[in-house]
Amino acid sequence: MIEVTVSKRGARRWASGHPWIYQSDVEGQPADAASGIARALDPSGRHLGHALYSPRSEIRLRLLTRADEPVDRGWWAARLAEARARREGIAATAYRVVHGEADGLPSLIVDRYGPYLSVQLLSAGLEACRADVLAALDEVLHPEGILLRNDAPIRRHEDLPMTAEVASGSIPDEVEVEEDGVRYLAALRSGQKTGAYLDQRENRARAGSQARGRALDVFCYQGGFALHLARRADSVVAIDQSAEALEHGRRSAALNGLENIEWAEANAFDRLRELERQQDRFDIIILDPPAFAKTRDRVERALAGYKEINLRAMRLLAPGGRLFTFSCSYHIDRALFFDLLVDAARDSGRRLRLAASLGQPLDHPEVLTFPESGYLKGAQLHA
Ligand code: SAH
Repeated sequence: MIEVTVSKRGARRWASGHPWIYQSDVEGQPADAASGIARALDPSGRHLGHALYSPRSEIRLRLLTRADEPVDRGWWAARLAEARARREGIAATAYRVVHGEADGLPSLIVDRYGPYLSVQLLSAGLEACRADVLAALDEVLHPEGILLRNDAPIRRHEDLPMTAEVASGSIPDEVEVEEDGVRYLAALRSGQKTGAYLDQRENRARAGSQARGRALDVFCYQGGFALHLARRADSVVAIDQSAEALEHGRRSAALNGLENIEWAEANAFDRLRELERQQDRFDIIILDPPAFAKTRDRVERALAGYKEINLRAMRLLAPGGRLFTFSCSYHIDRALFFDLLVDAARDSGRRLRLAASLGQPLDHPEVLTFPESGYLKGAQLHA
């Protein structure tokens, strides 16, 4: 068993509900570089808990359990069953079953797409538990196939290779799934993240149920929002810079018999400027950009980008129109996001009412004592 000694400050971090211990709070660790499950001890040698241990990562320990219990296949299975139980009643066949630390399963992402699982092992410590984790997934969720989408760049911080491989069963190129009555094709191997943006599921249903008139979906990817809007709106303009994503969206639209979506390949900044110049108007607008601030030093520039698109979208709203606007940049917190919306609203010359503050769906839980689990924030604004 690997043993790691943790400083008093590190121990306090765990006691206050944060599952990480950084390199700077490790006072002793083995000389070799084997990763895996470690027993953490306080400076006087008392048991603190069992944790995933990544000997080279800045985040050295990720707490699994404070109890002195074996972390074996049965342990993983019990935690998975708890995570599954928290998702009961979700009206979709594609959703997240495990959201890492927020589900007590650090650095593990498990997304379900119908009978298939798309999984990410995001730490060296967890990678060492691969066999037990895969066996527990089979035991608890009975998938027809498990895809390991271990091509997430974050794995580099753990000295892990970036790969995508089928771990068990078989995985088709596309899986048809359903979300609140809308069918779409998820590309598990080639899609963003583990195949699709599951984190917007509840917001898509919400916006869809309020759609009417002319709708605009900016940064639409494979049409996540557009498909929901098209069921109630007269027409939808869906904008993305990726022709491939739009083509995918077209096929999902056909699957639902939706013919009122215009798929537009364009740079969103340019197209919004054009639409504003033409004094176009929309009854419902979605702004769901990629993370403009991937690192802390990009925040300043990102804010300018967010402000620009929000300002233009506000000006494009018809009287009584609704804007659903989002940011998934972890480094731009809710307060900062709302500040920029206020800024944009001032410049827009429009009176906008805050109808709802939006966030992550139930299957992407945000834990209060672990802020790293929250990244998606949004607002529903009414003109
Ligand atoms: N709303 C989508 C997810 C959007 S992801 C859903 O619910 O599934 C962000 C999208 O923005 C990606 O598809 C990416 O291709 C697109 N994108 C990034 N920069 C862009 C730009 N400058 N102009 C247009 N699209 C852009």
